[in-house]
Amino acid sequence: MQTYKIRVKGIVQGVGFRPFVFNLASKYSINGWVNNDEKGVNILLYSSKESIENFIKELKGNPPPLSKIDSIEIEELNSKNIYTKFEIKKSETSNNKSTIISPDIAVCQDCIDDINDESNFRANYALTNCTNCGPRYSIIKTVPYDRCNTSMAEFILCEACKKEYEDPTNRRYHAQPVACEKCGPQVKLYDKSNKEVSFSLEAIKEVASLINNGKIVAIKGLGGFHLVCDGASEESVDSLRQRKNRPSKPFAVMFKSIEQIKEYTSLTKKEEELLTSKEKPIVLVKKQTKSSLSNNVAPNINRLGCFIAYTPLHHLLFRFLHKPIVATSANLKDEPIIRFKDEVLQKLGNVVDFVLDFNRDIVNACDDSVIQVINDEISKLRNARGYAPTSLKLEKKVSKKILALGANQKSTIALAFEDNLIVSPHIGDLNSIESMEYFTRTIETFKNFYDFEPDVIVCDKHPNYESTKFAKSLNKELIFVQHHYAHILSTMAEYRLKEKVLGFSFDGTGYGDDGNIWGGEVFICNNKSYERAYHLKYFKLLGGEKAVKEPKRVALSLLFEKFSLEEILSLETSVIKQFSEQEIKMLHMVWTKGLNAPLTSSMGRVFDAVASLANLVHIQSFEGETGLTIEQNYDETIIDSFDFEVIEKEIGLSLMIKQILDEKDIKTICSKFINTLVEIILFISKKHKELPVVLSGGVFQNKTLLELVCKKLAKEKIKYFYSKEVPLNDGGISIGQIYNLL
Ligand SMILES: [Zn+2]
Ligand SMILES: [Zn+2]
Repeated sequence: MQTYKIRVKGIVQGVGFRPFVFNLASKYSINGWVNNDEKGVNILLYSSKESIENFIKELKGNPPPLSKIDSIEIEELNSKNIYTKFEIKKSETSNNKSTIISPDIAVCQDCIDDINDESNFRANYALTNCTNCGPRYSIIKTVPYDRCNTSMAEFILCEACKKEYEDPTNRRYHAQPVACEKCGPQVKLYDKSNKEVSFSLEAIKEVASLINNGKIVAIKGLGGFHLVCDGASEESVDSLRQRKNRPSKPFAVMFKSIEQIKEYTSLTKKEEELLTSKEKPIVLVKKQTKSSLSNNVAPNINRLGCFIAYTPLHHLLFRFLHKPIVATSANLKDEPIIRFKDEVLQKLGNVVDFVLDFNRDIVNACDDSVIQVINDEISKLRNARGYAPTSLKLEKKVSKKILALGANQKSTIALAFEDNLIVSPHIGDLNSIESMEYFTRTIETFKNFYDFEPDVIVCDKHPNYESTKFAKSLNKELIFVQHHYAHILSTMAEYRLKEKVLGFSFDGTGYGDDGNIWGGEVFICNNKSYERAYHLKYFKLLGGEKAVKEPKRVALSLLFEKFSLEEILSLETSVIKQFSEQEIKMLHMVWTKGLNAPLTSSMGRVFDAVASLANLVHIQSFEGETGLTIEQNYDETIIDSFDFEVIEKEIGLSLMIKQILDEKDIKTICSKFINTLVEIILFISKKHKELPVVLSGGVFQNKTLLELVCKKLAKEKIKYFYSKEVPLNDGGISIGQIYNLL
């Protein structure tokens, strides 16, 4: 007989790890014990060497579905103790917390079967879950992950639930949020005046009929409320848009099943795989041109954000509802997703008609994740429910505890301690008091989870970012990392790259080292330092921030670079018609004098200019609209590109602007423009053939562009990297900031 101690780290708590170990031990007739502590799972095995080897092999090869093993340490003990059984011991508590918190996971098929089985005591119960599914991050107050440390603490288990909770062979063994209709939280429907209307299945049934009758209902999900309405009704969707003051930004649509999604979209195999994965993210897919879905769900866009019902409550709703529903995060503009019914009524009282609530509190808000498929692989646009908190294992331990505060838009925070790098779910844009409150609350939550007090803070260089101001207020050692360099670093972090790379950082806007607004940058860098090797030639943003919302201003500015005022006034182009003669003269003066016309090298703004020159978008109604529209007009049979110049460090596009003016066909403009960017990347990459290429920044969320660049680089046998697990947009900045210090 031999005795081994095994320590497993990673996502190993709240995912059925101990019962899995228990059952595995009995399979191989092994005695000993298993327990949890703040660092992970500890196992003591007492058996023959052969049994123990088999045990370890299976532990590594076939762990529980929701677990993620980062490391397994195995140590042989010289113990004289004799163990006569295998037992699950109580959690140990100490002060060192480093267990990774599991994200929330969509309801599993077994739990769906339970609610649909009339003979099951959880039939029709909207809040059921098990060790393989349900809330985790969103209900945890502190670690270790035990019921008393979650928002389920107040619910005392009934006999039937308790029996399952204590049975190591049951899939609800130690599933902390386990509950049933009798002992658990309840679903209730409220009207606008906060009066309870109905409860349980009756309430859900009523919501279905309200939606069918054109009403807007706020429905509580895992990490916050959704605003829901009939996706097939033009009238309902219009009224949601009006009430929410959201004229055209696409809404996500929730479906009953993958079969239902297929009636409205054309899916690739990979998209289907991701839609049905245990994370159930929103996936951007191709919309069918004709469907019964309201045109106003995603007006003028040929893609649709789809997701499948991911809680038992949603599944019960679809029992009574036979069409897809619009399900968009319940929040005010620039504010985080709402977690509480009363806040819904207070802030969105004029938007919603009813609220479907339940009394299992959301401790930590978490938005839906949004992804797309690029090169037949996942590409994250928003890293949240199902995926986040996201943990990356570091190659070696860090000597200091590092907190990175990210950018200002699509904010996330990241922390590094020991050999862990952990990224928070998407927090959002830090443009309001509420979002700043959410931002600081998230920092506190993570500090509490990991007993983490940072030694060093990393933030963006932008002096006016709220995250930077907050960083300065902390009175700690402070490191500033340039925004576009942080984009490249975020991809380097995902692949643990430390060697020199050629990084293309194409983005909206960010603060540059020279005080100008960067965004079309090419760096030669490693993870410690960078050289700005190339950049887009500077142009002026007429009216600063205003130009970000009005692509026509960027187009005009690029025309000013090329033509005289007289020439411009006589141009026969649609952009010019967007302004009065007076306005053009005034803006020309702004341009000449450089008053409120900061210099920029932003590639995102060039997209805006091209969309305006092509007469597609002159005023942007949501972020990314110009990129989406250009992509939509891409024709792969057009293989030509426009001319460009690379003179020393500057990439010049003025030849392209002139050629666009001479081109009348929209598809030709859009296609040749994307091809031009590909050619620029290729041209520069070939000049530095010895360096691997890194592509990062929001512009590369353009699927057409990124897929084309990859294809061409592969053809030239140039090695390239871009982020898949970490968003290419500003959501990745916090990880990049940390990687600068590793
Ligand atoms: Zn389940
Ligand atoms: Zn119960």
